[in-house]
Amino acid sequence: MEKINPFDNAKKQLGKVASILKLNDTELELLGTPKRIIQFSFPVKLDSGRIKLFQGYRVQHNDARGPFKGGIRYHPQVDLDEVKALAFWMTMKCAVAGIPYGGGKGGIIVDPKKLSKDELENLSRGYMRELHPFVGPDKDVPAPDVYTDGQVMSWMLDEYEKIKGAHAPGLITGKPLELGGSKVRDYATAMGGAICLRELMKNLKKKSHGSTVAIQGFGNAGSFMAKILSSWGYKIVAVSDSKGGVHNEKGLKFDEVVAHKEKTESVVGFRGAKKISNEDILTLDVDVLVPAALENQITHTIAHAVKAPIIVELANGPTTPDADDILRRKGVHLIPDILANAGGVSTSYFEWVQNLQGYYWNEKEVLDKLDVLMVNAFTDVFNASKQHRVDMRTGAFVVAVQKVLKAEKLRGRLK
Ligand code: NAD
Repeated sequence: MEKINPFDNAKKQLGKVASILKLNDTELELLGTPKRIIQFSFPVKLDSGRIKLFQGYRVQHNDARGPFKGGIRYHPQVDLDEVKALAFWMTMKCAVAGIPYGGGKGGIIVDPKKLSKDELENLSRGYMRELHPFVGPDKDVPAPDVYTDGQVMSWMLDEYEKIKGAHAPGLITGKPLELGGSKVRDYATAMGGAICLRELMKNLKKKSHGSTVAIQGFGNAGSFMAKILSSWGYKIVAVSDSKGGVHNEKGLKFDEVVAHKEKTESVVGFRGAKKISNEDILTLDVDVLVPAALENQITHTIAHAVKAPIIVELANGPTTPDADDILRRKGVHLIPDILANAGGVSTSYFEWVQNLQGYYWNEKEVLDKLDVLMVNAFTDVFNASKQHRVDMRTGAFVVAVQKVLKAEKLRGRLK
């Protein structure tokens, strides 16, 4: 894979919107610059008794519309440019979704698969000990991202509450239900993407039943997408994870793939399916392609070979800007990340609202609210892309940038 700087990609996306909305230099600079970058090294005690230093980040991109909001990623390839790009996309995503947050993102350079559970706990608590002055329910609200989960959120919450000497469940979202999590949060990202796909299929007058789907990344977002779309009549023909992918034109049974992954830690080797690479999965002849792993997967070379007429970006930043141009010219309908995966942060918002009011909703209440929110967001983006005759990504940025700039102007931070 080519090494591409995701923050350069983000700036290119912004540049496209700047010419449509005729943004001035100050507006462009403000949108393209994080408000605060927190970068630190911190010690973690390993099981051997040795102390190892880790590098942590939190980028707070923009808070004009509300507290910073965004996940924390544990990955060996985390770097500042990646976190800056992800924080920028969070600002845009929260604006597209119409939820009262700005954007932020955090990360630690670490391969969590090499740590024991105790070491992972020490790492998560150590990160929060450094970060606690900068986060809080009305300042900056973190959440899970790649290779972090409800358990990691629980350790971070506990560390924060110990330091503050008070309960503060609204500090962090993606928590287990027992600690103030929300119903639906575990599958919300996928559900939001599925709702967007449902709306697009309606607009294109296409039938979902029997439509084939390939999903790159079988983690939280990708595996729930497979589950939801299977239950809606789609045929999942290929899935993959970091070790590679599997393909069966007749369809893969969701429960059996999950059982195989639980046993062997990968989808690879699943009985009755051909092994394929993580690049090949992107160019399969399917009706719907769902990138749900990492950024920069659909490059210009891959874009030329993409056969799917519809792409639903559950991952953040999976398509490079030059690939975007190629896909647009090919007439591919691409539901962009800042819309397609906004169901996650929207349900995080519902979780935070429930935490602040101390009153919890049932699954149906959350699902109904999510449906309304996602349909509104999809409609705004779809209409903006029609109005400006642009692809849906640019349409989504148009919607988002207008909202963020309006908030900046109302605050008097921009004239
Ligand atoms: P996860 O850690 O649960 O899963 C990541 C999956 O990607 C795993 O199956 C892993 O094996 C696979 N993977 C890793 N490297 C890969 C590679 N090179 N090729 C193919 N697969 C690879 O993470 P997640 O929470 O599902 O996040 C996936 C993507 O969705 C990320 O881009 C994340 O930012 C985005 N996202 C997630 C949420 C959420 O609520 N979980 C919300 C919004 C966006």
